[in-house]
Amino acid sequence: MKSTMRPHIKTLTAAILSFAATYPLQSMAAETLPAIAAPSAQTLKPQVPGVYRFNVGNVRITALSDGTLPLDLHPLLRGISPRQIDALLHNGFASNPLETSINAYVIDDGPRVVLIDSGAGELFGSVAGKLPDSLAAAGYRPEQVSDILITHIHTDHSGGLTRGGKMLFPNAMVHVNQADVDFFLDRANLSKGLKPAHLEEALKTIGPYNRASKVKVFSGKTTIVPGITAIPTPGHTPGHSFFLLENEGQSIEFWGDIMHVGLIQFPQPQVTITFDINQDAARAQRLRQFAAAAEERKLVAVAHLPFPGVGHIRRKGEHYEWVASQYRNRD
Ligand SMILES: [Zn+2]
Repeated sequence: MKSTMRPHIKTLTAAILSFAATYPLQSMAAETLPAIAAPSAQTLKPQVPGVYRFNVGNVRITALSDGTLPLDLHPLLRGISPRQIDALLHNGFASNPLETSINAYVIDDGPRVVLIDSGAGELFGSVAGKLPDSLAAAGYRPEQVSDILITHIHTDHSGGLTRGGKMLFPNAMVHVNQADVDFFLDRANLSKGLKPAHLEEALKTIGPYNRASKVKVFSGKTTIVPGITAIPTPGHTPGHSFFLLENEGQSIEFWGDIMHVGLIQFPQPQVTITFDINQDAARAQRLRQFAAAAEERKLVAVAHLPFPGVGHIRRKGEHYEWVASQYRNRD
């Protein structure tokens, strides 16, 4: 074998032996191997905060991710079987449990910094509560927020108002529909569909602002601040509301929980979710809003569609399709 070894292999072998003599195995492991090893849990940096900025007219909008969580849709959706759920998810190249976004939005028109919904805060454990990081990555401090518009008082929309029992946004006025305040902050409603956990969470998050006289309620269609209108859309909760921003002939509607699962509820908008307090009203409201959005080619921002949750709804017979907005990475 030795005599048949080709000259260049001989040279290579000599080089390896010489290298091994110069660098014993221990120092190779310590100095050479880490440079070529795959990223480990210790070296992998956390996911970059979810932030996406775009303009509507002259107003700067920033979508903020509060996180995502895997939702087991089988026990949650109503009016559809687990088999049909799985088939529609499969059609969308997804599976159960479905990774579901929690989105919030900043509207910055110069004089005001308005936050639409506040994420879940500390109330969903480690799977959410990333809004403060996203807000910081977008360049805002909580003290700069002048107004917070809450689409409805559910944990994943109002939970982020407080941290450690204190107001996270000390200079903000919280705007919310009177009907949601009446429902979620009144113990008498425990016998009328209000869950004890939701009452406790509402007291914890809205309570501190209420005591500081920093909650302003509205009823009916109302101009909240110049250019932003609240539009009550009851069903999911009694006071669920859209917020419409209009500027320079352009507009966007912030939709809260008119829907939860795009892959299911666009093809089958009659499907409801157990979180809908009034199932029939939630279904009717969704059908109405989907039809109007498709007809009027509205730009909408939706809390639980994949981040940033901004796009249009297209009608296809009796069904609908989601068309996400074009990504833009320039100012
Ligand atoms: Zn929600």
